[in-house]
Order: sequence, then C-alpha cells, then structure tokens
Amino acid sequence: MNVIVFNCGSSSMKFQIIETDMEKIESDKDVMLAKGLIERLGSQSLVTFQIEGKPTVKEALPLRDHRAALNYIMKWVTSDETEIPGINGLEDIHAIGHRVVHGGEKFKSSCRIDNEVIQGIEDCIDLAPLHNPANLKGIYAAREIFGPSVPQVAVFDTAFHSTMPESVYLYAIPYQLYRRFKIRKYGFHGTSHRYIAYRYRVLTNTNRENCNIITLHLGNGSSACAIKAGNSIATSMGFTPLEGLVMGTRCGDIDPTVIEYLAHKEGSSVDEVFSILNKRSGVLGISGLTNDMRDLLEEIEEHQDRRAKLAVDMFCERIKKYIGAYIASMNCCDAICFSAGIGENSAKIRERTCENLDFLGIKLDPKLNKQAVGGKEMRISSEDSKIAVYVIPTNEELVFARDTVRVVLNIPKPWH
Ligand code: AMP
Repeated sequence: MNVIVFNCGSSSMKFQIIETDMEKIESDKDVMLAKGLIERLGSQSLVTFQIEGKPTVKEALPLRDHRAALNYIMKWVTSDETEIPGINGLEDIHAIGHRVVHGGEKFKSSCRIDNEVIQGIEDCIDLAPLHNPANLKGIYAAREIFGPSVPQVAVFDTAFHSTMPESVYLYAIPYQLYRRFKIRKYGFHGTSHRYIAYRYRVLTNTNRENCNIITLHLGNGSSACAIKAGNSIATSMGFTPLEGLVMGTRCGDIDPTVIEYLAHKEGSSVDEVFSILNKRSGVLGISGLTNDMRDLLEEIEEHQDRRAKLAVDMFCERIKKYIGAYIASMNCCDAICFSAGIGENSAKIRERTCENLDFLGIKLDPKLNKQAVGGKEMRISSEDSKIAVYVIPTNEELVFARDTVRVVLNIPKPWH
C-alpha cells in the first residue's frame, strides 16, 4: 500500500510517500519512496523534493495556499520525469495520513477522517488556533484532489498523552474551569514519544508492560515524557506547546504573573506578550543571537559568548529538572532516550544534560556519546550505568503511515 502522509503548518507543508502494509510493518520493511517540504506558502515558496537515493530538487515559485501546494506536490509525484517506483498516477496512492496537532479529549487514537471527525478537529481549533486550521486545510485539499474514495486518517499529537492520570493533567485551578473550558495539560509530540518508546522496546527486546523510560524530544520545539508500563504518564508541554522545557524561541515554564506584569510595564496587549513568550524567548531570547542550537554551540566554541553559554546552560538545566521530577514520580526508570534534531546530533547537549547525574545512576560513555550523530540509533551510557541512555532518532512520518494502514485495514490493535 502506498501511503502519503502530510504534516501541514500554517505556512508550510511536509510530505512523505511510504510503501507499507501489515507485513512490512511487522518485519520493519516499510520503504520511504519520496519526501518533500514546501515553505513560505502565500509568497515566494521554497520547494524541496527528494526521491529516495536521488539528489534533492530545489526550486522557488509562488504557491498561494495549501491546496496549491498539494496540487504542485501531486503534479511532481505523478509526472513522467519524476519516476517514483510504483507511482505513475494519483490512483497509485492508496491512503492518506495527516498529522493533526490537537485532538483535545475526544481523540485518544488515530482515526479515519469523516465529517464527524472533521467537526471534532474544528471543535479543537480554540485549543490550537495556529495548528488545527492548517491541518484542516491539508485535509480539505486532499479530499478535493484525491476524491472521497481515497481514505484519509488523522494522527493526533495529543493522543499518546491521553493516558496521563487526572492528578497529572489537571492544573491546580478551580475544577469548574476544567469542566467548563477543558483547561488542562494535553501534551504534544505524542507521535514522536510513542515512536521512540517503540524503538527502545525493539532495541532492548522489552515488552510494553516493562517499558519504563524518559523520552526527550529535543528540537526547535522540545518536550520530555515519562513513560511507565508503555504509557505516557507525564509530559512537559501542557495546555499548549509553550509549557515545559526551554526551546528555540519558546520560554517553557514561567510564572504566569509575568504576563500581566509585562503587559502592564510595556503597555502591551496579552497577545503581544504571548508573541514574546512564543517567538522571541527560549535560547533565542537569552542568547540574543539565534534559536538554532548548532549555531549557538559554534558561537560558544569560537567566541566563548557568555549569553550563548547561558542559554545552553538553561536549556540543559531545565531538561535535568524534568528528568529528576520524572524519576521521582515514576519510581522506576530503565532508560533515558534522546531524540530529534538536538537530541540526535549534539553530543555536547547530551553530555551537559547528564552531567552530575551519576548519583542517580546515569553515566554516559563519552566515546559512545561522540559516536552517536547523524541518525545513529545506539546506547551511549557506560556498562555500569544503572539507568541506560540511548539516542533514538525519531520518525513521526512512519507512525503516521503505519497508523494509516492500521486504521484503513480496520485492525483494532495498534501496530505496536
Ligand atoms: P528539529 O526541530 O528536530 O528539526 O531540530 C532542529 C534543531 O536541531 C535546531 O536547533 C538545530 O540547530 C539542531 N541541530 C541539528 N543538528 C545539530 C548538531 N549537529 N548540533 C547541535 N544542534 C543541532
């Protein structure tokens, strides 16, 4: 089965075409055939397409919106020159998977998209005003282009965290506010945390019930997740993806009083303050230089920039705080798994994060840690580390595709 998966942002659209079915899933033989990214929708868009094993194609052209982008992608995918194995026309795409950021309390697993599901995603727009509308645009565009006979599946970022207990997901505000407005912690990056936990189980031959780990998705957006007996029992992002770790441009945990105080001092609106907390904070805000961790680390290396160092210190310190908190609430932890752009590539950040945690039984092997770059999946802790440490590259697109297969084939059991 050829599945195309879409990850639509407000001004971007990512896709992958993956050849997969239950047999391929069980033997881990899914094949990624092609992928692409269109950025800056609505102006001069940047297009990057790649067929597996062939050079990347890049171009710039104006694409008005998600529909125009999807049209352009499908024209490229099906054109005679493109030559994606097994794909000659639209009819060779058998199912479509969509990342949907917010499923609220309604969606606890992936599901086939029909009018009721679309309504459910629309109902969650209030909770994710930037993300869900973009995801819906992708869904509408795909419906128009592929027609109603090609099944579409929604895979929710929040779903994996639906197992968090009430005592963890509630904020300590009047309970009626949760009842009336559903104000609670939802958590995000669920597909990624779920995939990392699945790979950990495969790597270590651990069954779901015995999977007690902390997963760290450290990218431009970052979050930590405590996984006990295979289920998410706590995660650092909250009502929105602003809570938790220090990120590229987001502040993470902060005393909410700052918002009112800052609005008052600057004479700005609440929206303006949130724009600061979402777009101008995090390591960018502290360093005053960049949100890009690689550039920040280079700056420290080359110029010993004090604020760049401070930003990195704060980034690692916050992760450490969550590791400690999660170990305390899990009462058992077999491994810590680093993932995403920073977690998969930066030995320095992993080293800094695990520094002085030996009293908890966390000890990195410096040599292994340095080897784990560029998508390697491996253990990086020393033999005598009580809690193992792994680098596990994430692959959210694969989860979108596999969930799509499972839902389309009506297989009730998850693929892992
Ligand atoms: P993601 O959002 O998962 O794509 O991750 C993006 C982040 O990963 C950016 O901050 C990049 O600078 C960071 N990153 C990628 N490669 C490296 C590297 N080799 N060292 C440090 N950070 C990196």
